[in-house]
Amino acid sequence: MSLDVLSSKAACCLALSSARVGNALIELSVSRILSIAALINSSGFTCLVFKASTACSAVILISSFISIPHNWLRIYSLLQDYKKRCTLRAVVYEGPNKLSIKERETPTPKQGEALVKVTANGICGSDIHGYTGETGRRVPGMIMGHEFVGTIADIGPNTEYPEGWHDQSQYAVNPVMSDGICDFCKAGLNHHCRNRLIFGVSPSVVGAFSDYVIAPIQNLISIGDKVDPEWGALVEPMSVGYHAAKRAGIGPGEPLLVIGAGPIGTAVVLAARRLGTGPVIVSEPNPERRDRIAALDVTAIDPINDDLPARVKDLCGDLGAQFVIDAVGSSRTLADSLSLCSPRGTMVLLGMHEPTLSFDSYALSVAERHLVGSFCYTAEEFKETAEWVATAPRELEGFISTRVGYGQISERFALQGKGEDLSLKVVFTPHSDN
Ligand SMILES: [Zn+2]
Repeated sequence: MSLDVLSSKAACCLALSSARVGNALIELSVSRILSIAALINSSGFTCLVFKASTACSAVILISSFISIPHNWLRIYSLLQDYKKRCTLRAVVYEGPNKLSIKERETPTPKQGEALVKVTANGICGSDIHGYTGETGRRVPGMIMGHEFVGTIADIGPNTEYPEGWHDQSQYAVNPVMSDGICDFCKAGLNHHCRNRLIFGVSPSVVGAFSDYVIAPIQNLISIGDKVDPEWGALVEPMSVGYHAAKRAGIGPGEPLLVIGAGPIGTAVVLAARRLGTGPVIVSEPNPERRDRIAALDVTAIDPINDDLPARVKDLCGDLGAQFVIDAVGSSRTLADSLSLCSPRGTMVLLGMHEPTLSFDSYALSVAERHLVGSFCYTAEEFKETAEWVATAPRELEGFISTRVGYGQISERFALQGKGEDLSLKVVFTPHSDN
């Protein structure tokens, strides 16, 4: 519904109320005339009319008092909603370790775009590392947020709603925008588009730590109506894990070693399950995260206090793991990957914990191991993952551990930035009271 339509509705409502008041006054006047006539002529017939008109006046009077305030409240509510939609709140990244809440004018969608009312937006590890200034992947003044789900509040001119849309339909938004015409896009690799932009990552694109955000309508992927709407915010990180598993080239029944049991490591494990991979071994030093991942029927190993190489050999064979996915991305975890991956095996570097890594290059070259990078996902993988999330998979229960609104988001970023909050997934819910 456009804002123009909304304001028209408010005006109609106001006019309707005025008309009701007018009608009531006219009816009251008619009743009073009849009452006066009754006083002049006190015949039996007129007496009946008098009684009827008096009763009628009373009913109209009472109903007017009931209906008028009701309508005024409705108008007030519509005007408040209209005002809210003219101005949005957003979480602005001001520089290392500093966020602020600011009001901005709500943008109007252009052709091919939708104004998305954000239901939930996940806080990504990359947001946290950008917030602390470690990676330099966030620029002061920008609005972050790329793991989001929402409803359509408005669409641009000459633009059609997605098939099956209704005003409560929830859409996971693919944050990767591409031109659709370059060689990569034509090859189905739109995440390498020459003109790629990513919500809340590319400084020029406003992200979803906000009440509303503009998105190309083709990037909106339905999550159906069987699933908790907030789960739509999980489509993006789950797609990251799915793409990494595909980059590894693992197949059903093949063993996989995953390094790290944070949100992305967990997404890799869930993707491996979708692909029938197994057994899956996870290396994770944090006991809380280890216990949590072990609940997904994987073997969780402490790389510091357990004999990780021996456990990997037990489960994968003497040569080590044929497939390793590093969901951390530090020099230490890359060293683990190299020592635990079998000759000619494949290691996927997915985590981005450190921008520069050093490693034993001979361990890569002499054993002819493959080191493969993984970033984002294709549009098709995002869609497949949204379809999977729409089935409400049991494994996603409990994945969202914490919800915060404008009142708590700065504190939550600070805690995560200091490493004092190991929640699996925190989501920002801008329209909640948190
Ligand atoms: Zn392209």
